Amino acid sequence: MKKSIKDIDLKNKKVLIRVDYNVPINENAEVEDDTRIRESLATIQYLIEQNCALIIMSHLGRPKGKPDAKYSLKPVAKKLQELINKSVKIAEGIVDEKTKQLAKNLKNGEILMLENIRFDPREEKNDIEFANELKSLVGDDAVFVQDAFGSVHRAHTSTYAIAKLLPAVCGFLLEKEIKYFEKILNSPERPFIAILGGAKVSDKIGVIENLINKVDGIIIGGAMAYTFLLSKEIKVGNSLVEKDKLDLAKGLLRKAEEKKVNILLPIDHIVATQASDNVEYKYIDSIDIPDGYMGLDIGKNTVSRIANIILSAKTIVWNGPMGVFELNNFQEGTRQVALLVANATQKGATSVVGGGDSVSAVKKFKVADKISHISTGGGASLELLEGKTLPGIEVLLDK
Ligand code: AMP
Repeated sequence: MKKSIKDIDLKNKKVLIRVDYNVPINENAEVEDDTRIRESLATIQYLIEQNCALIIMSHLGRPKGKPDAKYSLKPVAKKLQELINKSVKIAEGIVDEKTKQLAKNLKNGEILMLENIRFDPREEKNDIEFANELKSLVGDDAVFVQDAFGSVHRAHTSTYAIAKLLPAVCGFLLEKEIKYFEKILNSPERPFIAILGGAKVSDKIGVIENLINKVDGIIIGGAMAYTFLLSKEIKVGNSLVEKDKLDLAKGLLRKAEEKKVNILLPIDHIVATQASDNVEYKYIDSIDIPDGYMGLDIGKNTVSRIANIILSAKTIVWNGPMGVFELNNFQEGTRQVALLVANATQKGATSVVGGGDSVSAVKKFKVADKISHISTGGGASLELLEGKTLPGIEVLLDK
């Protein structure tokens, strides 16, 4: 386990904190969705209670290593100020003379936000010189707090190099992410099942390979199911298939069989000639899909079959929708799975939902508050499920 802000004396310290404020900004330069800012508030409030002088770092978008007004953190600083009802100073730069002066004059209990850390080309290079310049803003006696789960799979200056130079601990948000992933991956209550869906098998190969060694069953839906079905010589019509991954899919099914892990694929489908709400769709009560049609959602028999498995699970990890849930005609399978995962959780299962689209799905179907843990990092959560150690976590102090 890694040390958190509760495990270290922070009273009256200067703190450099990395958060994930990569939020959508609209054309009026306003924050469109402040979820990520709200999620950081508990940590920030705790640090202010400890009378810390707080310097906040984040990236926003991909500004290509140079200042770009479109990616300025000014609207974010304004939003944070509103949410915590406290003044937030925003620097014009990162480690320029003016910002150094602002940092020097920062008093305990005050907050300064640096400009977008990716305005400096050295950020993505994990640059030790840049890290030393960041450290000079807070001095030798300071602490580094990592709370940007969405960024810890990257070894960048603000996620790795800086953590080598200061005592480095996690904030509450990162601590919660680590706690849930450690629990499900290292000591899951059984049965432990994974529900995997979404567009591509290729994105989830590593996850399946790792989870086969850990779970009791894997439910596969979404477009990736059709590559698996075709690898078993089942007709999939015009469904999305990654032809170059057929052998791999076959190999994964064989491996699962050897390990006695049940892989459940769709047995019926909702199909249409294209992924659109404007074309006719129909239900196919068979595993084979007729020529000319695409499988765009799992059918009701598939849902009934997986319902018992989900409801009797004690640990559930879900990544990727069961169909094109953004469209009305193809949302039902994903909606049912969202409700089933919520039900299982209410019956005592631990559920972890990760990946942008499954997170949108649990929100869309209004069960987000019934899930044990909704992960805030798509890429980072996939890498944890793949069994990788993430550089931005690994570098933090151990308990
Ligand atoms: P991912 O980012 O890999 O989780 O994929 C999510 C996307 O997969 C969503 O936009 C879904 O619309 C899409 N998707 C899910 N099922 C299907 C399907 N059967 N055919 C085409 N796209 C799908």
